Amino acid sequence: MLPSFFESILALVVKTSTDLPPDVRAAMRLAMNEEPEGTRSAQALAIIGQNIDQAAGGEGAICQDTGMPTFEIKVPVGANQIWMREQIRQGIAEATRRGKLRPNSVDSITGTNSGDNLGPGTPIIHFEQWERGDIEVKLILKGGGCENTNAQYSVPVELPHLGRADRTLDGVKRCILHAVWQAQGKGCSPGAVGVCIGGDRTSGYLHAKEQLFRQLDDINPDPRLAELEASIMSTINTLDIGAMGFGGKVTLIGCKIGALNRLPASFFVSVAYDCWAFRRLGVVLDGTTGAITSWLYRDPANPIIPMLDRAGFARTGREVSLKAPLSADDVRALKVGDVVLISGRMFTGRDAVHSYLMKNPPPVDLSGSVLYHCGPVVVKEEKGWRVTAAGPTTSIREEPYQGEIIKRYGVRAVIGKGGMGAKTLAAMKEQGAVYLNAIGGAAQFYARTIKQVDGVSLLELGTPEAMWHLTVEDFPAIVTMDAHGNSLHKDIEQDSGERLATLGVS
Ligand code: SF4
Repeated sequence: MLPSFFESILALVVKTSTDLPPDVRAAMRLAMNEEPEGTRSAQALAIIGQNIDQAAGGEGAICQDTGMPTFEIKVPVGANQIWMREQIRQGIAEATRRGKLRPNSVDSITGTNSGDNLGPGTPIIHFEQWERGDIEVKLILKGGGCENTNAQYSVPVELPHLGRADRTLDGVKRCILHAVWQAQGKGCSPGAVGVCIGGDRTSGYLHAKEQLFRQLDDINPDPRLAELEASIMSTINTLDIGAMGFGGKVTLIGCKIGALNRLPASFFVSVAYDCWAFRRLGVVLDGTTGAITSWLYRDPANPIIPMLDRAGFARTGREVSLKAPLSADDVRALKVGDVVLISGRMFTGRDAVHSYLMKNPPPVDLSGSVLYHCGPVVVKEEKGWRVTAAGPTTSIREEPYQGEIIKRYGVRAVIGKGGMGAKTLAAMKEQGAVYLNAIGGAAQFYARTIKQVDGVSLLELGTPEAMWHLTVEDFPAIVTMDAHGNSLHKDIEQDSGERLATLGVS
């Protein structure tokens, strides 16, 4: 029964996690060419480009959050879907064992990570029959940071900065603009959106996600939707949100819109946001062997072109080198916009660690520490642990705890992405601490700055959630919240909101 099916699925999973498809690369290359050299966005995009090349070159995960695997499969009539489903599950578990996927499946009641990416609802597998003898398998890996920025609007609705969105294409446009604006850098911009007009709450989100399987450079066959897509792209890129929400010319690399019929009483606009780490690939399999006969989204005649023709992240000479642990003077000297290079010890800590620290003393001395919001991919080797992917996670989830933890334990720097809120900003001012925005998704780039894993605490929380003790060298990040009460995130959100209000959408 399809002797090569398992190997084909495994190859698809590994390639999807480690090598961005040509259409996404092309869109990111355009974005890189748009940003003037030396700007924050240009530096962020240079790191992203370098990361894409490093991931493909070393077959490492592009981003440490390897997301929710979602398969869309077309099979011949009569194919054994039960057997295929089990093979796919085993392929996912094997890719996780090999460190190509991070263990990402968490029991929603107990918080326990299954460790192999299997569990109720994980992975997501949708089958459809077709009148052909071969099998088509498409896969998207969409991470939590961008998933959390998805939005669904029940129209008519009043939107900040945009006014009322009615049940018209103008109303739809307002909803999409609002969804992208509110994502700012939290979903690792520049990103792409899949949109569904109509459907019900469930089918709307599903159809929106399905739009992300379209090529970024295709043209919508419905001219009304094609016009809307083009109009969103040209409008959103005037908001100056930019890469990682640092301010810049390119905020969105794709907008794909579909429509479903709706109930007369309902009008939903569902928006699925995907980040620049737009991991989506597909294969066609021989219907009798399961062997790969062709790849989708990749033309074998066109070899993959590296993103960068130079070294990547280039220093300007203005970077501030810091050696952790940090003093109050070290951090009070920093201001929003400074690029820092951190060396020394840092500790990882995300949701579970923050929850633990609110109730228990820290397992290590955190005074002067650098706390990295990161759930790395870590593999155990003979000589100890090795981090294979280690980009930042979305920091705003820790907003309810962060200020208290900074003040209670003397943390001097928090590294993450997307910024934090007013409570944390106030605690940073009071305590003398800064927020450093690392480049979201740059998991391979940052893994290479980790020179050693010195230890681990709270491993019982699972590898992504544990507190890893790392020695880093020249870890680059941008000061986006300083110890004087300034926040780049607050400024960009306010400025882009004002621009949104003056657009006069129609
Ligand atoms: S690039 Fe950012 S949003 Fe995308 S999966 Fe990685 S951390 Fe999440």
